[in-house]
Amino acid sequence: MLQGKTAWITGASSGIGEATARRLAKEGVNLVLTARREEKLVALAAELEAKYGVAVALEVADVSDRPVMEVVGEKIAERGGVDILINNAGTMPISPILSGRVDEWEQMIDVNIKGVLYAINAVYSGMAERKSGHIVNISSIAARQTYQSAGVYAGTKHAVRAISDTLRKEAIRFGVRVTDIQPGAVATELPDSINHPKIRDAVKANMYAEGSEILQPDDIANAIYYALTQPAYIDVSELHIRPVIQE
Ligand code: NDP
Repeated sequence: MLQGKTAWITGASSGIGEATARRLAKEGVNLVLTARREEKLVALAAELEAKYGVAVALEVADVSDRPVMEVVGEKIAERGGVDILINNAGTMPISPILSGRVDEWEQMIDVNIKGVLYAINAVYSGMAERKSGHIVNISSIAARQTYQSAGVYAGTKHAVRAISDTLRKEAIRFGVRVTDIQPGAVATELPDSINHPKIRDAVKANMYAEGSEILQPDDIANAIYYALTQPAYIDVSELHIRPVIQE
């Protein structure tokens, strides 16, 4: 069903993005992979090309760098555009508001909100012209509820959910579908982006408590695959997936 299509995955160097790259390559989807860690992208691209015979282009790009994202968009347009955008890159340096880590608040806003918008802007007009496309934004369970010390992160994810829903209403007129994926706890490198030592330790202890079974990146890749493979008259507007142990 997806064979021969092309997908751009942001944040493809680890976690959910990497798992989604594997899942889509297995279905014969050609890929554009972006992230900042070039060596991870190079290794993944080589693996997927060899294993599945798909074409993989990669660009080292910080999603919060607007000019860089504009260049990525131009390169994608020159190659004929993409059918799918998996808007996944994100960061979570959470802390109590009182700790006043303003640089980290700005970083979350720049990566999680502006980065998502820059990627949408890079491909949406091309999709609208071709009257075909699917934009999948990865927000979070934190798009629906809030947690102590995660106020700014939850704010960014609430924003992604709101942007997704607004975009869906607009884009469907141009044949472009929009899905917002809202995962609960997934075993990835994301907690490593927390710089506040106490909060990082508490989050890791909570996520990886003995006997607790949290989601794996493949679980989210499967959810994305589900959304992408529904018949054209169906828009899976939101998918909210959590481990059974998570409230
Ligand atoms: P990872 O830390 O494993 O992956 C994050 C990805 O984003 C990496 O590939 C990283 O690549 C990329 N990234 C981070 N900052 C930037 C940047 N400035 N520019 C470009 N790429 C960047 O975590 P996950 O896989 O868990 O995270 C993926 C998404 O899922 C995020 O949006 C996250 O908020 C969301 N999510 C995760 C949950 C979880 O429990 N893990 C739960 C709910 C949502 P690089 O460092 O190479 O640039």
